[in-house]
Amino acid sequence: MITIRNLSKRFGELEVLKGIDLEVEKGEVLCIIGPSGSGKSTLLRCMNLLETPTSGEMTVGDKTVTFGTKKVTERQMRAVRGKTGMVFQSFNLFPHKTALENVIEGPLVVKQADKARVRERGRRLLAKVGLADKENAYPSQLSGGQQQRVAIARALAMEPEVLLFDEPTSALDPELIGEVLVTMKELAREKQTMVIVTHEMGFARDVADQVIFMDGGSIVDSGNPARIFSNPDHERTRRFLSKLL
Ligand code: ADP
Ligand code: MG
Repeated sequence: MITIRNLSKRFGELEVLKGIDLEVEKGEVLCIIGPSGSGKSTLLRCMNLLETPTSGEMTVGDKTVTFGTKKVTERQMRAVRGKTGMVFQSFNLFPHKTALENVIEGPLVVKQADKARVRERGRRLLAKVGLADKENAYPSQLSGGQQQRVAIARALAMEPEVLLFDEPTSALDPELIGEVLVTMKELAREKQTMVIVTHEMGFARDVADQVIFMDGGSIVDSGNPARIFSNPDHERTRRFLSKLL
């Protein structure tokens, strides 16, 4: 579903991603872990072209984009963004729209679909994330966990091939983290392809098919979670995990 080859990203003099290689199969969950500043968000943002990589190559679904030689076209951006949905740490809901209106905004604007059918589908998605009774609530009337579940429903409304999550539970009070992780586990069970930047190691261990550990803009260690968590290859991974576990 995603193949990344020798991907690099600079901000001026600062090389933030240094030749990243990775693959995500359809239906797989990839968790990205690593210390703050290691380039996790930048990598995720490159995957939906919120950032343009400096060099390298990326394939999402059937779309391959090569960076550094030619400028990325509008058309390539639209194609990649149409295949990916992003869930942010800070929810980013429209405050003046209800839960349902937030969920259906994208399909109404972009896909110009029939409004009644879009609303019906939006309701189903809210039910799926456990918020059937909240369709008319505004974000300010919802808890952080509920807002994040609306954000997940909103991402799903665009029918992405891959869902990208950037620390989706980091802004939540501890007692609200579980409900969001349950929703994400459910999506994993349904074989939704997902790439998740997270500090929730228990979740990564249970749900990920593949874990990568990033440090200093490189992938330092990668593999199946049982191996990474029980027997990390690299001293840096070991030190990082020992501080958390
Ligand atoms: P992480 O998500 O792992 O904490 P980031 O991808 O956010 O790391 O950041 C990696 C590095 O890139 C940091 O040193 C950060 O300051 C830098 N960085 C991120 N975004 C920008 C930007 N838009 N301009 C300049 N530097 C940036
Ligand atoms: Mg980050």
